Amino acid sequence: MPLLKAMPKLELHAHLNGCVRTSTLLDLAVGENSKEKISNTDLESLIRKEDRSLTECFRLFPVIHALTTDHAVVTRITREAIEDFLLDNVVYLELRTTPKCNDLYGMSKRSYVEAVFAGFEAAGVMYKTDCDVQDGHRMHVRLLLSIDRRENAEAAMNTVQLAWDMRDRGVAGVDLSGDPAIGNWETFLPALTLAKELGVPLTLHCGEVSNPKEVREMLALQPRRLGHVCCLEEAEWRALLDSGIPVEICLTSNVRTESVSSMRDHHFAALYNAKHPVVLCTDDPGLFSTSLTLEFAIAATCFGLTNLELLIMGKSAINYTFADDKTKLILHGIFDDALQ
Ligand code: 5GP
Repeated sequence: MPLLKAMPKLELHAHLNGCVRTSTLLDLAVGENSKEKISNTDLESLIRKEDRSLTECFRLFPVIHALTTDHAVVTRITREAIEDFLLDNVVYLELRTTPKCNDLYGMSKRSYVEAVFAGFEAAGVMYKTDCDVQDGHRMHVRLLLSIDRRENAEAAMNTVQLAWDMRDRGVAGVDLSGDPAIGNWETFLPALTLAKELGVPLTLHCGEVSNPKEVREMLALQPRRLGHVCCLEEAEWRALLDSGIPVEICLTSNVRTESVSSMRDHHFAALYNAKHPVVLCTDDPGLFSTSLTLEFAIAATCFGLTNLELLIMGKSAINYTFADDKTKLILHGIFDDALQ
């Protein structure tokens, strides 16, 4: 484990509100900041980290959101998430979050994103595209704006517009996430198509539950990356392999949410053996009590990957990031040093 921890890593699939530390949730639940109350039962469910079925996860996210309401808290959880990834030797992070409006706290989607940027500033990381190679910081961070499947077409459009407006300030792409059982994918197509037309990189949560038609349409849109792809039928699986679209693999999350029946049956092995582009990610390290080091350890233990293979997989994933070429060059340098 110390070797895996010391290895430079890229994290390309982490949801901000899924990264919140348990200690912070407790602090917010009892602290003066807690303007909204959550029940002791819900708090217990959060800290016990037992039932993590997909249904339970989507019951728990609103509980977390009830505690992470105002700008200062958004800034705090962003800083803490970055600090935790930094401790895990993550050298490049694409953090994703759903911009939220909340009249009670004077919060608009834009001010929410500004609060996240304040967290980037507080953590002292590099997140703008024009970063200076020489300035000595080690961690590079980009923000992806998520569209939640509960949102309507207009809200999704606003998120894409915001991502475009803030492209020079550290927003590197757009994600579609949220409860896969909710919403009709077609609702988001105009916004996602606009993102494609503008050149805003897209990543889509895909195939967390069985929905062949949706998977086919997602593949046809040709996003830059896909998340999960757990429940694919044979034809969609072949289409995925043919597409060459990189897949964000979240081992612990997929098993805990029961999108995959066991680690042994995880499709990571098939993708990796087929030399399909993959990257190991945490998804929601707070919710699932995991870290990238732990995900690497699972890949080593369950699928027999060596440290060298993990390092090479990480270096390959630089090409799947939504970072600018200059940042990619810096990352290649970091991985080349580690490979020596
Ligand atoms: P936030 O966007 O509020 O920072 O992070 C939490 C949100 O991310 C959840 O409300 C949900 O929309 C999305 N999310 C987190 N984990 C998952 C996951 O495993 N699958 C899907 N589809 N969405 C997720």
